[in-house]
Amino acid sequence: MNPLIREIKDQLLPAYSPDEAEALAWWVAEECTGLTRTQLLLNNLSTFNFQFSTIIDRLLRHEPIQYIFGYTLWRGLRLSVTPATLIPRPETAELVDLVLEKLSPITNHLSPIIDACTGSGCIAIALKQAHPEWQIDACDLSEEALQIARQNALDNDTDIRFFCHDILSPLSPKYSLVVSNPPYVKQSERRDMEQRVLDYEPASALFVPDDDPLIFYRALVALQAPILAVEINEALSLETAQLFRDNRYTDTQIFPDSYGKPRFIIGRMA
Ligand code: GLN
Repeated sequence: MNPLIREIKDQLLPAYSPDEAEALAWWVAEECTGLTRTQLLLNNLSTFNFQFSTIIDRLLRHEPIQYIFGYTLWRGLRLSVTPATLIPRPETAELVDLVLEKLSPITNHLSPIIDACTGSGCIAIALKQAHPEWQIDACDLSEEALQIARQNALDNDTDIRFFCHDILSPLSPKYSLVVSNPPYVKQSERRDMEQRVLDYEPASALFVPDDDPLIFYRALVALQAPILAVEINEALSLETAQLFRDNRYTDTQIFPDSYGKPRFIIGRMA
């Protein structure tokens, strides 16, 4: 193994599995040297020449590397992230794929669209890139998150109308499609979550009260868009689907994520 990668990896091993430590070591090395993987492989650099220690210390405290370097690569997009935004997840990329697969055929009827609780803007930006003709709005409660989302839209050459809005309060424009990955983790599920998520990611984007875990989905069905496509809590798929059916989404289907867990719902009005 390249000596630089070996050295960084060894320093990370107390806190990470060998595979994770190696993946992080490559990211740190590429970012700090400005060299590509191939260039790194061709050069026999050692940490002696670089100042990695503060980054290693932050990683050893399990700070997400995406927050340390300020970006993530997600579904082919480079997106800025800060602790005001969740780090976009692989499941959410699958939600975008599902929406594009199931709903692109009826593309003419699909404007305007809203990505509710947009966070980093990832869903809105990915949909707009796939369908530049769609008119897409995106809202979030957090002004700080919206700033990042606006920057991401700009960096990825997409034109999206962002606005600050708490989806739990009424929203007047009518949309033909609502897409959302709202908060859905129950407070009691905290114990199953990774410490780095709990310590660093925005709780307001993740958690819902145990006694009202579908609070955001109730707000989303209340918008009464003809089509509603969402990411959901795998433990609440049946209840969430029932909520859809009770609110005029007579054609409601649950879809699995790549782990086979019930993770998405698309509801359509008849
Ligand atoms: N799936 C995310 C996680 O595990 C949660 C995303 C959400 O609450 N919308 O952290």
